[in-house]
Amino acid sequence: MLKAFLAYYRPHRTLFLVDFGCAVLAGLLELGFPMAVKAFVDVLLPRQDWGLILVAAAGLAVAYALSAGLMVVVTYWGHVLGINIETEMRRRAFDHLQKLSFRFYDGQKTGHLVARVTRDLEEIGEVAHHGPEDLFIAVMTLVGAFALMFWVHPPLALMTAVIVPLIAVVTLRYGGRMTRNWQAQYGRVGDFNARIEENVGGIRVVKAFANEAHERRLFARDNQLYRETKLDAYRIMAAGQTLSYLGLRLVQIVVLLGGAAFVVRGDLSPGGFVGFLLLVGVFYRPLEKIGAVMETYPRGVAGFRRFQALLAIEPDIVDRPGAVPAPPLRGEIRFEGVGFGYEPDRPVLSGIDLAVRAGETVAFVGPSGAGKTTLCSLVPRFYDVDRGRIAIDGLDIRDVTLASLRGQIGIVQQDVFLFAGTIRENIAYGRLDAGEDEIREAARRARLGALIDALPEGLDTVIGERGVKLSGGQKQRLAIARIFLKNPPILILDEATSALDAETEREIHLALTELAEGRTTLVIAHRLATIRHADRIVVVAEGGILEEGRHEDLLAAGGAYRRLHLAQSLDIRPEPGIV
Ligand code: ADP
Ligand code: MG
Repeated sequence: MLKAFLAYYRPHRTLFLVDFGCAVLAGLLELGFPMAVKAFVDVLLPRQDWGLILVAAAGLAVAYALSAGLMVVVTYWGHVLGINIETEMRRRAFDHLQKLSFRFYDGQKTGHLVARVTRDLEEIGEVAHHGPEDLFIAVMTLVGAFALMFWVHPPLALMTAVIVPLIAVVTLRYGGRMTRNWQAQYGRVGDFNARIEENVGGIRVVKAFANEAHERRLFARDNQLYRETKLDAYRIMAAGQTLSYLGLRLVQIVVLLGGAAFVVRGDLSPGGFVGFLLLVGVFYRPLEKIGAVMETYPRGVAGFRRFQALLAIEPDIVDRPGAVPAPPLRGEIRFEGVGFGYEPDRPVLSGIDLAVRAGETVAFVGPSGAGKTTLCSLVPRFYDVDRGRIAIDGLDIRDVTLASLRGQIGIVQQDVFLFAGTIRENIAYGRLDAGEDEIREAARRARLGALIDALPEGLDTVIGERGVKLSGGQKQRLAIARIFLKNPPILILDEATSALDAETEREIHLALTELAEGRTTLVIAHRLATIRHADRIVVVAEGGILEEGRHEDLLAAGGAYRRLHLAQSLDIRPEPGIV
């Protein structure tokens, strides 16, 4: 894991070395100051030479200035290094998310995926910046300070060293407790983030059921739990900091008493005494640093593990080696012995054989859960078949690139997903390089012209998150406009009008009928009336094709289609135009 982590440093080698070098220098200077003070007291003071004293003061000023300069490099450029690494990791994580298939997303919670790309990587950035140099410098100053203390006065140094294990134990203990508390905090934050996300996303349902009080109670509980975890953290921090403070003072008193005794005995120079006291401070600081690193480190490691795990997920739907871009397709689709299941041992479809001619409109009907949507989602390779193959214009769809395949299929579903933005942006999603005229033409053909003309902002009207400011029918027409703009030879309409009222349905049918012209169209319909004029009707049930034929023929045959038809003939809605 360390190797994988260090790989992210490689492009920033120079920056890292400069940063690291400066940190080492700063550490050495810090060790130098007590020694300078020692020399000042022992050597310069007795000579009582103001010239020399002023020179020494000037030297000290230069050293301080240098130290300040080094600090700028370490704090600024060290963070630059951290954010560079974090940015690169975030780019990779997001790029990888774009490659993963429907099957991956089927099993994920949005909030958790968002956390991987945001919070997890922040933690890593923190460690990437602080980790190596903090740890190294801390150890360096610790060892350096002790060596100098030992050099100045070995017995006093050993007396001080006795207390170190004590401090180490305290630091480790509180560091460990802090780490566990951090984990708990993240769990709590995750919980209430998920709660807020769900509440805001479903606020219309909350209000419709007047369940605000219930939601408030649920949230108050999570909020309270978070507060308690935070209180724990502050208790640990308070205790840890107090003990650490007391530790330092204890050492100082020991050094003060011991040092005084040695000075009186003439064993230690006054400069050595002062220098030693200062060294104790230098010696002590890294202990706290190490404690802090020990706190951020586990979080960074955990974040990096999750990041690595995400990158390690192999996208299961990818271009085969040697896949070629599909030529412009006519749209003849063949299902040959197709079998598929979402889980290995639970087939949803089996033995599907079907040939759709270019330009033909084929309707799929059958009970809910029969596998109609599944069948259609195999064509753009949202999932790959387990058995058999699907060929378009004689090309196995796995032999052409995904982009060229999906670029030639247009899909309109019952649930339209619109992006927060303007009508223009949402239509242009169908073809990002489309010009103004093309967007207007697509809107007009999708029967959106009147709406856009009536809006003060026209195409630039903002439609709200997921298009909340539009009606169901308007959203559906926007989705259709996208496909007009995309202009694909193959069209999939999955219950595109099921959720609409009869009047809107009729209107949208006009748009859909125009859209379907000259394209191979696979249409899934809940209401049989909407597809009775399809070139062919395919009845899907129990994972296979039960019947296929024209409306009249299937009715006459008296099979499954006739039964479905009779069951729906009580439906008294007027019959709209037919795709
Ligand atoms: P239809 O469109 O005919 O109503 P679907 O194709 O949506 O039926 O579903 C067929 C079967 O596959 C159902 O049993 C459904 O529960 C299951 N299914 C659909 N989508 C998924 C999925 N993403 N993961 C697992 N099972 C699924
Ligand atoms: Mg369906």
